[in-house]
Amino acid sequence: MRRTNTCGELRSSDLGKKVCLQGWVRFSRDHGGVAFIDLADRYGITQIVFDPEDLPEGTDVARISEIMKSFTRESVVSVDGIVRKRVEGTEDGRNPTGEVEVLITDAELLNKSVTPPFELGDQKEGVLPDEDIRMRYRYLDLRRSEMVQTMQFRSKLVHLARQYLDENGFLEIETPVLGKSTPEGARDYVVPSRVHPGTFYALPQSPQLFKQMLMVASMDRYYQVARCFRDEDSRKDRQPEFTQLDLEMSFVDMKDLQDMMEGMVSYIWKGLYGQDLVTPFPHIAYRDAMERFGSDKPDMRYGLEFTKLTDVVKDAPYKIFQNILAEGGIVAGMNLKAEIAGNKVGRNDVDRYINYAKKVGLGGLTWMRCVDGKLESNIVKYFTPEILENIKTTMGVEEGDLLFIIAGPWKATYEGGGALRKKIAEDLDLVPNDVFQFFWMDECPMFEIDPVSGKYDSFHHPFVLPQNDLDDDYVGGACFDLCLNGNELGSGSLRIHNADLQKAVFHKLGLDDERIEENFGFFVEALSYGAPPHGGIAIGIDRLCAILLNKDTIREVIAFPKNKRATSLLDGSPSKVADDKLEELQIITLAGDMDFDFEDIEESE
Ligand code: ASP
Repeated sequence: MRRTNTCGELRSSDLGKKVCLQGWVRFSRDHGGVAFIDLADRYGITQIVFDPEDLPEGTDVARISEIMKSFTRESVVSVDGIVRKRVEGTEDGRNPTGEVEVLITDAELLNKSVTPPFELGDQKEGVLPDEDIRMRYRYLDLRRSEMVQTMQFRSKLVHLARQYLDENGFLEIETPVLGKSTPEGARDYVVPSRVHPGTFYALPQSPQLFKQMLMVASMDRYYQVARCFRDEDSRKDRQPEFTQLDLEMSFVDMKDLQDMMEGMVSYIWKGLYGQDLVTPFPHIAYRDAMERFGSDKPDMRYGLEFTKLTDVVKDAPYKIFQNILAEGGIVAGMNLKAEIAGNKVGRNDVDRYINYAKKVGLGGLTWMRCVDGKLESNIVKYFTPEILENIKTTMGVEEGDLLFIIAGPWKATYEGGGALRKKIAEDLDLVPNDVFQFFWMDECPMFEIDPVSGKYDSFHHPFVLPQNDLDDDYVGGACFDLCLNGNELGSGSLRIHNADLQKAVFHKLGLDDERIEENFGFFVEALSYGAPPHGGIAIGIDRLCAILLNKDTIREVIAFPKNKRATSLLDGSPSKVADDKLEELQIITLAGDMDFDFEDIEESE
């Protein structure tokens, strides 16, 4: 028997054809001696029927009947048959093959399945089996049509990106997976070397240094669908290994890079949805994003913006604000307009948000409501009527509006405010889930200064081109993020291409010459051989797919993901290694037989 058609292919135009279908027995039922089976494969489901009364003369009914008894759920089978119209009234309009069925004339069991641990039919929302079971039997989970569609979507998306980049002169080049650690800010996964005992390779957090060296090597335009590895705590949109569409270009400025990305995203969009995406994408400066939306990747599809009140309240005899302002902090307010939100948020909800504010790092949350034209709450007594009036005007407060006021150090307060804004928007259903809004977040700083240690840290990474003198009070970085609906899809930058400047940035980050030489000597050396001006970006493929498909976690768009505990329930990795192998690597483990209890690992946003 040789397959003539897939299970998603037959239509009314095929009536009378002799076909051979091969696929999995998804669902079967018996109606008075007539067996109906949903035969499934990647392409769809076709109803196949064993109807002893209706078979061509000479068919060995008893033999086929015996074979059909072995057709258990999820067994893989082959059937010969004739395409016929379904009995009127039994057509399935939701299934493209739903007008026809295949009358079985011969059958073969290709491989029997043991009873699957869960039902693979199309589950209604919310009745999916437990995620651990899905992960343990991922090859079965992937048979579900929803997962098949996800894999098809992902494959198409990556294919479109490749097509676009290829048409634009990019070379697809693989960079090493076994390498030296690149400081992308996370912990490395390390691989011991047998040949050089006591030394380790690091799995790449990103191909950053190699792609830059490809520019030194005159490759001009590089891309790679690159697997990256970061040993970080679990998050909904993080995995120990993930995929980035990584690219680099020579002789470009930031606009060239962004234009290329907008072109690529639009091309992908058109290929996926047949629609034109509006370009250029809007831009928002880092500071504006933080001060208006409390996030460097704000979801701008809804309002609830913050307005600075620092100047308005600076003379209010309210101790808490006074202390915060004296330490250089900020005060900002969010106006929940009566008609959108204010009326829906009652006193109990306000208390709930005050508690939430504490959880997300805000010292507290002040509120005021406009009743009969006046701001009211238990703290208005600390404000003069002029200041209250000024708050009203600045915030555009009208009758029934509810004001939330946040105060504290700039970054932590806006970040906390951003989390609160998101929570309120979700609670009040203000997020339009069917809108996709791409934008660039730019005008970023080059460094962040740790408020406790006073140490400099990179805002992105140490290879970003500074925009001004490193000794200036504020140093901007030529870096930007591509964001979509409150998520960072990827970040890019122009790079330093001058060895001395690269060293100066390392110095600023606290690395002495010895550390620079040890960690980055090879790279700085490469820059000294005529490195061209260059820049690049990397886009998270998993994240992009998850957002476009409205999936809650990136695990849903990865064929074989790790779970929240960075474990693969399918193959049991990570696992112990035999003593003789460890010996060969000259490794002694301290963990011994210790069993860690990961149960209480919480997944953060
Ligand atoms: N290597 C960076 C990252 O993984 C992206 C880039 O700057 O190209 O975030």
